[in-house]
Amino acid sequence: MKSLEELTRPNIWTLAPYSSARNEYSGHVAHVFLDANENPYNQPFNRYPDPLQLELKERLAKVKGVKPQQIFLGNGSDEAIDLPYRCFTRPGIDNVVAIEPTYGMYKVCADINDVEYRPVLLDEHYQIKAEKLLSACDDNTKIIWICSPNNPTGNSISREEILKVIRQFEGLVIVDEAYSDFSSEKPLRLAINEFPNLIVLNTFSKAWGCAAIRLGMAFASEEIISIYNKVKYPYNVNLLTQQQALEALKDPYEVDKWVKLLIQERSRMMQAFIQLPTCLKVYPTDANFFLAKMTDAKKIYDYLVEKGIIVRNRSRISLCENCLRITIGNKTENNELLSALRQY
Ligand SMILES: *Cc1c(COP(=O)(O)O)cnc(C)c1O
Repeated sequence: MKSLEELTRPNIWTLAPYSSARNEYSGHVAHVFLDANENPYNQPFNRYPDPLQLELKERLAKVKGVKPQQIFLGNGSDEAIDLPYRCFTRPGIDNVVAIEPTYGMYKVCADINDVEYRPVLLDEHYQIKAEKLLSACDDNTKIIWICSPNNPTGNSISREEILKVIRQFEGLVIVDEAYSDFSSEKPLRLAINEFPNLIVLNTFSKAWGCAAIRLGMAFASEEIISIYNKVKYPYNVNLLTQQQALEALKDPYEVDKWVKLLIQERSRMMQAFIQLPTCLKVYPTDANFFLAKMTDAKKIYDYLVEKGIIVRNRSRISLCENCLRITIGNKTENNELLSALRQY
């Protein structure tokens, strides 16, 4: 791996971060806060939230098997996807490499940051060889994006190939494990101590059932997380979100129950789909959705919309011709979808 200094934008490496009022007195116990121009009334919403979300990170560290200092929390994974561009890639000079097809935000953030995005096509099994990704890189490639389980294909990318990429690439490898709770594979975030160039993303939006609170996570070395902490907005995770996440963390068994149910429903739905005359193929999945190749995705999508049922039409995505992406809902929702498709 190149040194972090070589990988970081020079202006970010030397950046003097904003120092908030609450940062400056640390180490003392205080009870009169006349430092941040807050209103003394309307508690608890009058006070700025903890900029580093320490209580939440302590709790999360136990659940996720990492150290609190190895966690970045952001306004959804969106922030954890945008931030590495702002920290590591020089606009108009550097580039990133990613598997294709994959989650759309990696490219959108590259475009916003004026960073060249190099998609590398998966094979017909939606897999990729490390060599193929590495051969798309040059000296200005700062990041390789891998989403596993991948969206929209649903499958996990071969662990062996991901590890080869991490070992051989000189830059940073970001593995988005938004759906890893639905997979039986061991999460890669448990390997961040082994690989200083690995960043793993998780989210509260999927298995944790908290898409509305906007909370995304990045796990990486303390050094990488300190760079993120310098660059992020000072109060990037609001108080309500921090409180609600702490609430959710009180009952991780509830999440396990949801995941088990969704996995059961997933296999029921896939078996039902393959019986449908309109369905040509269902693809293997480790996520809370699956991809299905249909006889005519556009017509079936429109038909379902008419009935008030919304799935995702992925037809125009590379390698996903005539494919619909089906999120697993509750039993009632799933049955409604099936019965609509049986009447098609
Ligand atoms: C849904 C999803 C996320 C979650 O994004 P949030 O901004 O945290 O809601 C992240 N990555 C992938 C690949 C996803 O599909």
